[in-house]
Amino acid sequence: MYAHDTIAAVATPPGQGGVGILRVSGPEAATIGTTVFRRRVSGPWQSHRLYTGRVVDLNDTVIDYGLAVLMRQPHSYTGEDVFELHCHGSPVVLRAALAALLRAGARAAEPGEFTKRAFLNGRLDLAQAEAVAALIQARTPEGAEQARDQLFGHLSRHLDLARERLIRIKGHLEVQIDFSDEDGVGEIDLAGGISGLISGIDDLVRTYARGRLLREGVRVAIVGRPNVGKSSLLNALLGEERAIVTPIPGTTRDVIEEAVDFDGVPVVLVDTAGVREAPGEVERIGVERARQVAATADVILVVIDAAAEPVEPLPVQIERERAILVFNKVDLPLAWCEERLRELEVEFRLVRVSAKTGAHLDALRAAVVSSVCTVPLDGLPVLTTARQCDALGKARESLALALDGLQRGAAPELIAVDVQAALDHIGSVTGIVTSEDVLDRIFREFCIGK
Ligand code: GDP
Repeated sequence: MYAHDTIAAVATPPGQGGVGILRVSGPEAATIGTTVFRRRVSGPWQSHRLYTGRVVDLNDTVIDYGLAVLMRQPHSYTGEDVFELHCHGSPVVLRAALAALLRAGARAAEPGEFTKRAFLNGRLDLAQAEAVAALIQARTPEGAEQARDQLFGHLSRHLDLARERLIRIKGHLEVQIDFSDEDGVGEIDLAGGISGLISGIDDLVRTYARGRLLREGVRVAIVGRPNVGKSSLLNALLGEERAIVTPIPGTTRDVIEEAVDFDGVPVVLVDTAGVREAPGEVERIGVERARQVAATADVILVVIDAAAEPVEPLPVQIERERAILVFNKVDLPLAWCEERLRELEVEFRLVRVSAKTGAHLDALRAAVVSSVCTVPLDGLPVLTTARQCDALGKARESLALALDGLQRGAAPELIAVDVQAALDHIGSVTGIVTSEDVLDRIFREFCIGK
């Protein structure tokens, strides 16, 4: 068992709520928990049974009336004895109950410490532990589904299979080392096996871009000259009046960021000041900011006033792949000739909308999603963290070296070294191979109480 001390924390989010839950885990969880919680009907505590009673301080002052459950190890989240107190969801009550638990001998838990204990006690592997954080942080149903999939072990099983295949390849190499004088030993297609693993890793790494978008959201910048309808478009996409809309050019001077959900994909909409060579200092700063925002965006909506005099479509340097031309105000008579629009359509993704009437906004949302979610998932598990992606990238490098060695006819023991390195990198994703500082880095990202 990993831990010798007993930790406690409030597990529900800060603020008021119907219920608030405190969690205690460790060898003293039962003693500490039952010191602070007095059952209405006394008797022996059965594991996984909910009891009613009162939460008390050490001098027997009542803090709250609520429920408590003791989950005996190993059948608990952490694999240790876990005691949970379900109080009323009042920050005052929860603070007092936590103080009582600490006075009774618990230590305040660090962020992610419950999940870290679950990992160290073998209840979860590292990819599953990361999936817990991803699930808690998920901002859309699709993000939650992929985190859940990882939590249930889809990625872990996939990587276990890859490791098994690699272990067999290493076994064959070792046989060749031992019987190097004999011909015909280990006549299997090692190169084919390694190439297959490399392309499997490539497929997985490609899912990361999608996983990252689901976790962090697609950054969509809205740029364009003043008065083309950027703020109106932002409001229309948000469905609320957030940005200030005025008919005076140059009113959106600052950058506005809003989170929305386009067909299950989280999106951060960023509206900027009008992009143009502005005379005023405030606007100059705004325009500069627009350039910066556009530089870090995944997708850039270049808004153009379809009812105004045709202008050069791109006000700043933007790569075509990231840009979507949004011809706004199509409820008004078109000032652009159809032929010019069709020319632009060949060069760019182009959507015609009306921020005012809401026409074709669905097509715009779909264009944003399809421009970033180009990777078909085909039932593959999705990588959700940069750490998983880096580890598999390193595994791929080692496999490429092994393949190169095989093709050059290098000594099997040298190839086996690269294969072992690949095994270690793949193993680090699920935590078969890991180090203390890697664990610290991972669990620091968690909230307290998880
Ligand atoms: P921004 O400077 O690019 O943010 O432009 P605004 O969103 O402030 O809009 C400038 C003006 O255009 C306002 O008077 C809006 O009401 C108007 N406008 C914006 N979108 C549309 C549209 O789709 N159709 C029409 N007819 N007017 C629009």
